[in-house]
Amino acid sequence: MLTEQMILRIPGPTPVPPRVQLAMQQPMIGHRDPETSDLLKQVGPGLQQLFGTTQQVSIVAGSGTSGLEAAVINTVAPGEKVIVCVTGAFGERFVSICKSYEIDVVVLEEQWGEAVNADRLKKSLLEHSDVTAVFLTYCETSTGVLNPIEKLSSVVHKYSDALVIVDAVSCLGGVETKLDDWGLDIVVTGSQKALMLPGGLMFVAFSERARAKMEANPRPRFYLDLLKYDKASKEFSTPFTPATSLLFGLQEVVQLLAEETIEGVYDRHRLMREMTRRGLEAMNLNLLATDAVASPTVTAFTVPTVEAKQVRKALKEQFGIRIAAGQGHQKDTVLRIGHMGYCTATDVLTVLTALEIVLMDLGHTFSPGAGTVAAQQVFLKKGTGVHV
Ligand SMILES: *Cc1c(COP(=O)(O)O)cnc(C)c1O
Repeated sequence: MLTEQMILRIPGPTPVPPRVQLAMQQPMIGHRDPETSDLLKQVGPGLQQLFGTTQQVSIVAGSGTSGLEAAVINTVAPGEKVIVCVTGAFGERFVSICKSYEIDVVVLEEQWGEAVNADRLKKSLLEHSDVTAVFLTYCETSTGVLNPIEKLSSVVHKYSDALVIVDAVSCLGGVETKLDDWGLDIVVTGSQKALMLPGGLMFVAFSERARAKMEANPRPRFYLDLLKYDKASKEFSTPFTPATSLLFGLQEVVQLLAEETIEGVYDRHRLMREMTRRGLEAMNLNLLATDAVASPTVTAFTVPTVEAKQVRKALKEQFGIRIAAGQGHQKDTVLRIGHMGYCTATDVLTVLTALEIVLMDLGHTFSPGAGTVAAQQVFLKKGTGVHV
């Protein structure tokens, strides 16, 4: 096999489009020069559209987790009580961060593969009337569940004054997000998932309510002080040296998304979700999430007859395709296919077809070709205007 070829179908980092890769090769510019301000000014409206906000979107040099940590330390004082909704590994990460910062955490946990239950959240809010923030994971990457953020946010606002804080790292840019309309207080994301960039940038936007809480919060913070970034963003600047090469790439990403139109981008992700799910089902594989809560960006599944790691190994060795293992207690049983960012129906067909060969080879029984045919049918329906 041509070993140089690497087909990344993991839920981040995701492939970087050639145009973006090229843009990142540009020579360095001064971070206090007008060229950098122009660049920040240019990407601003595109980012605001993705976040669904008229607030400033700040860009921070850091991985996605720096966004989770920033959301916690900027808004929650030591000793305050919060609810963290846990639907998988990334909800657990919010719990760990909160515990590291001496926050009183109420964990509202669901089975992995399920979404946050709005009634349970309501009950928890009524029981703990003193919570100051509720932490939610939009797409739980470990299970492929897309939590119903709009609905959950309305429950939080109806039954409390808590802030709604959302980890949108693995779906913002591939799934509609409306910070303003849905009453979200903080939304964070990272560069290496649906935003088609390498890892290294964190993006964050917040509401006026969140700003007021940040201003009143006595907890010390320095590099991740979001008020610093927000103030600098308003002047098209950054408080510290930005990751300029990634900003060059971001400029191209914003352009690419505009060319496809944002609705087109979201439609493409829904199409890839349906193709992947119907394809996997037709191969007698078990989907972890139900259709009602399935994320357009990542699909988790199990193989009833073959060890998950054998499947991953064969896909990598025979086809150069990387899919991901599960996380936490699902590490050895679950497989995950990332279909976000620089990914199309063509890529989904490739991974499904290769997976069929691998499964046949490993002795899993299903009707040969059924997965590919099921995905093809989803694609064909799209052309007839049937909503997928
Ligand atoms: C990838 C991911 C993160 C963390 O990202 P890092 O860049 O690895 O820090 C956080 N939340 C979710 C939901 C993710 O998918």
